[in-house]
Amino acid sequence: MHKETARLLELDREHSLVMHIGAILGWDQETYMPPKAIEERSSQLALLEGLAHQKAVNPEIGELLAALEAKSDLSEDEKAYVRVVRRDYDRETKLPEAFVTEYAKEASLSQAAWADAKKNNDFAAFKPHLSRMVELNKKRAHYLNPNAKPYDVLLDLFEPGSTQESVAAVFAKMKSYLIEILTRIRERPQIEDKCSGLRVDKHTQERISQYFMKVLGYERDRGRLDVSAHPFTTTLGADDVRITTRYVEDYFPSSLFSTIHESGHALYEMGIDPNPDYRGTKLAEAVSMAVHESQSRLWENIVGRSPAFWERHFPALSALLGEVGEGLDLESFVKSINRVSPSLIRTEADEVTYGLHVIARFELESALFDGSLNVEEVPEAWRAKYRELLGIEAPDDRQGCLQDVHWSMGAFGYFPSYALGNLYGAQFWAALKKEIPDVEARISGGDTSAVLAWLRKNVHVQGSRYTPGELVKKVTGQALDPVWFEKYLREKYSKIYGF
Ligand code: ZN
Repeated sequence: MHKETARLLELDREHSLVMHIGAILGWDQETYMPPKAIEERSSQLALLEGLAHQKAVNPEIGELLAALEAKSDLSEDEKAYVRVVRRDYDRETKLPEAFVTEYAKEASLSQAAWADAKKNNDFAAFKPHLSRMVELNKKRAHYLNPNAKPYDVLLDLFEPGSTQESVAAVFAKMKSYLIEILTRIRERPQIEDKCSGLRVDKHTQERISQYFMKVLGYERDRGRLDVSAHPFTTTLGADDVRITTRYVEDYFPSSLFSTIHESGHALYEMGIDPNPDYRGTKLAEAVSMAVHESQSRLWENIVGRSPAFWERHFPALSALLGEVGEGLDLESFVKSINRVSPSLIRTEADEVTYGLHVIARFELESALFDGSLNVEEVPEAWRAKYRELLGIEAPDDRQGCLQDVHWSMGAFGYFPSYALGNLYGAQFWAALKKEIPDVEARISGGDTSAVLAWLRKNVHVQGSRYTPGELVKKVTGQALDPVWFEKYLREKYSKIYGF
């Protein structure tokens, strides 16, 4: 290893430490912090953010990068490391200080305005903030790369290497098969949700969550499970990856599947280890949002909602549910948790319709940034998209264009990652099945360790060694192709719905 790399690692580790300290405070804020502590907590977090920023823009990093980039004898890991450090260093240093301050202030006002607007179903009150966030993000994109289309620059922040064109091409294919599969499902008799309304107390739901974390191989000595308003996974250190869930008393599958989902994220974080010399640095971070989401969704949907998985675990679930679960049998449970029904709210959507919610947002964002859609037209454009894609009518903006927090924070280009995650997940799964043809038999026999071992070896361990595009090619032998998700959905739902 070159001495410049060693020094870069040292500086990077200090930055990671500050970020992890911030994550501890953030985790506490969402789980145990008493409400009145919010004011000082905000100051604490702002102080740490400033400290992290100072460390990230240290000119010594620029000098070390320049020295390393001039060398022709870097190892493969050094090359990958220089690439990710360069990417983050440019992002931090290209934005003028005054812009960063202004952006942070406007984003926090915008978020507060959005929360009120959503509560009062008042898009007009949020409109000026949305305009401002679009405008500021065009500016931000220009600072980062004046030669690229603004929306391409923003997409690249979440899914490195992706562009509006590349995402649109993938989504066009996905849109046509999702609509076709949904139409077939709608022609079949509807499935009744037998889980809805069963009252399962929090304590029992927590025991169910703990049981499934153990089944999946979540390491209890490297993390913990707590409760928060919105479930999340957070990394506080290489050996401290925590998850949260929430308990809905009359719908236990909510906590069950959010725990499995977050465990999927955590298993990824726990498995990252590209090279022991790079522990606690940017090389040991997840490759992208979409690849992260592929891990959570693979465990939640492909494994966790499969008949094979429940053949093995339904008896344990029944025992944990006790009397409440007496009317529930394996077949109706598996059908209930795979019920497809177009709905207005993205976060409650099933596997088939989820992608359509994301496509609606992607198409609207694209139009906002290429100038073909004005901010005041968003509510009507939203309703039109939902009519077109899902065949349903949003009765108000609260359940329409005001439902998600993302745009109020200025996170344009984030939504596509969620749907790309499903596509990556299905493509990884197809590759896994080729190598382990009896994987379903193993799962129904109670063994998911082969799945975890395969993901560890192929995806988790790599960290940021490859770009997402390189990783999917290396692991599956081809570029991202939405056909794998289509195959998976057709096979699964033609059985469930009998078409
Ligand atoms: Zn997730």
